Amino acid sequence: MTLLPITLFGDKILRKKTSKVTEVDNKTIELIRDMFATMRNAKGIGLAASQVGVDKQIFVIDVSGVEGYEEIKPMTIINPKIINKSEKTNKIEEGCLSIPDIRAEIERPAEVTLIYQDVDLKEHTVKVSEVLARVVQHEYDHLQGILFIDYLSGEEKKELKKDLENIKKRKMEVDYPVSEAAH
Ligand code: ZN
Repeated sequence: MTLLPITLFGDKILRKKTSKVTEVDNKTIELIRDMFATMRNAKGIGLAASQVGVDKQIFVIDVSGVEGYEEIKPMTIINPKIINKSEKTNKIEEGCLSIPDIRAEIERPAEVTLIYQDVDLKEHTVKVSEVLARVVQHEYDHLQGILFIDYLSGEEKKELKKDLENIKKRKMEVDYPVSEAAH
């Protein structure tokens, strides 16, 4: 297993709408394994392929470390589509391994229904709520090139400007491997 460098704010791939997966070959299986290892090493609960520099509609989730979610098995989500969102919303604080040390309360639908494929490209439909709905929406956004900070107000974004510039220049500290700064 390999720990992959995590892409950071400013890396172009994080703004790309990722490509559909049409075949899960050995390389893809290896990628998924490495994504789990990379996520756990960085103490994340979700990680999208674009966060390790790969243009594919894949994300992995493991919320079993979250209190009350110990029973939830790790999931590999391929080619997801959110087909329903609840009208009810909630506000939960989010962070992102690609935007270290920045956290913000974001309002999102409390429940979503998701169609996705597993590693055998078998289709599943699941309805998720609470923390799981939150992680699913955050990671799903990554596959569309959207980051959680995009939901902040102009004023809030202004406040983060300096920190975001520092991330772009890698003037921050993280205890996991990250991509090199763009030149
Ligand atoms: Zn993220």
